[in-house]
Amino acid sequence: MLQHPPELARLVNEIRGLQKEFPKTAEVVHFEPPQQDLKNIHLEGRPWLQIYTLDLPENELVSLFTRLQTLLAKYQPFEFIKKLEFERVLGGTASYIKGNFDPAKSDAAILGANPDSYLFFLQELLKPFLKSWAGLIRPYIEHDRWLLNICPACGHTPVGGRQERNGGRRFLVCSLCETEWLFNRVTCPACYNNDHPALGYFTVEGAGGWRVSFCNKCSSYIKEIISDNPVSALDFELAIQLDLLAEREGFRR
Ligand SMILES: [Zn+2]
Ligand SMILES: [Zn+2]
Repeated sequence: MLQHPPELARLVNEIRGLQKEFPKTAEVVHFEPPQQDLKNIHLEGRPWLQIYTLDLPENELVSLFTRLQTLLAKYQPFEFIKKLEFERVLGGTASYIKGNFDPAKSDAAILGANPDSYLFFLQELLKPFLKSWAGLIRPYIEHDRWLLNICPACGHTPVGGRQERNGGRRFLVCSLCETEWLFNRVTCPACYNNDHPALGYFTVEGAGGWRVSFCNKCSSYIKEIISDNPVSALDFELAIQLDLLAEREGFRR
């Protein structure tokens, strides 16, 4: 078992409990299954959410916003959240979903917030809706023909990876919509280096199937788990013991 800081573990469990209630309606978004022409555009490397536009259910979003705001305000890194107005956040969601974090970062600067905390807040606010939408597009993902380091559904970056115990396939897990997609086993997800000797991993004693895979070419690392069952993005966020180890070894996320 990994060691989790108790306050972080409590925060993660509270967020998880809240997100389970959303979306409240079964069908929050309108969805037309993609035809062949759109599939071809997608396979050129465009995530589905750069092709489709997601209409967020505003009344549900405001409801989650208010509750997440109350929940996070208790935690020191989220003090800025009391000053946050829904309209401002709503205005920035479209850019955030499309993978443009600059408007969110300037909002964070105006509020005097840590940009990582602000981006985490946006991610957790939007996650239930993105997850729900991604569930609709997932049957159309052609795993063997994607193999990129961004999520085929929403285009966001992976929070971690999962390697199967049996079968040996490796998947990346989306930080936003939690879609899993196939990725090469011996390739760095940051720079696509597949030079075997430049790649490695280290494990933590007693940490079950968790490990840190790293690349000596670009000095990046990714948290991974050996498991035959999908793991939630929050479990990767929670595994900061691995981040501390990786950073101590000179790698960056
Ligand atoms: Zn995604
Ligand atoms: Zn690399």
